Amino acid sequence: MEIKRTRPQAMECFISWKEIIKRVDTLDKSKKYYGVPRGGQYISAMLNPVDTIEECDIIIDDLIDSGKTKENYSHYKKPFVALFDKIKEKDLKDQWLIFPWELKEEAVEDNFCRILQYLGEDPTREGLLETPKRYIKFLKEFLEPKEFNFTSFDSEGADEMIVQTNIPFYSLCEHHIAPFFGIANVAYIPSEKIVGLSKLARTVDLYANRLQNQERITTQIAERIQKELNPLGVAVNLKAQHLCMNMRGVKKHNTWTATSKMIGIFKNDNKARTEFFNIINGTK
Ligand code: ZN
Repeated sequence: MEIKRTRPQAMECFISWKEIIKRVDTLDKSKKYYGVPRGGQYISAMLNPVDTIEECDIIIDDLIDSGKTKENYSHYKKPFVALFDKIKEKDLKDQWLIFPWELKEEAVEDNFCRILQYLGEDPTREGLLETPKRYIKFLKEFLEPKEFNFTSFDSEGADEMIVQTNIPFYSLCEHHIAPFFGIANVAYIPSEKIVGLSKLARTVDLYANRLQNQERITTQIAERIQKELNPLGVAVNLKAQHLCMNMRGVKKHNTWTATSKMIGIFKNDNKARTEFFNIINGTK
């Protein structure tokens, strides 16, 4: 079975401007080139660029990888060339080519430096020198999805509510990338399967450690537990403070936002729902 990878295992290979200019020099500058956005545009700009496909003699791209882009342009019935062609150049096949205009980690950090400058800061002062690097690392680490095995066990007849309260969570609001944080309360009533208690907290983290909104985290936790255990019901309740609300605008302190998601018995049976809220309010 073929395993799909998000990152190719191929060797990273950085293309220099020197190599690009060398190859561009072999192309006919008397022809008119339309550059395929975006990589091809850098190439056409070094030749003889035109704005529309209709005006061009040749469509140019930076790279032919699978040939998919070339195929997409085939109905124009114009020659399609690329500066690097993995189909023709067999030695490029296992290389992961990175062009100067593509994002490397440093380029991302540079962009963050620009934001600091825009805010009137001096990114070269001592305290800020390493900040872009640290901030990107912090975001990458925090937003890394921590998938885990949702190992379940036979419930052995357990059919009462299983509740975990006061699970701390941290998230970043997707509108401001400002932290929001608080506690989660998670309950389910098993039918045939139960899960190790730590897995409930890990489910909370899995959905909280993203760019999120509170309502969506709540729903995603509940739906995941429902899908994995097929219990009689799931109840999830989140209470959080949002720094984007606390720190600016109306500056309301100590404002908590509560969200809940009820599935199955918790949705349909008042008694189950009341019991859940009594437990979580009693143990606060
Ligand atoms: Zn926000």
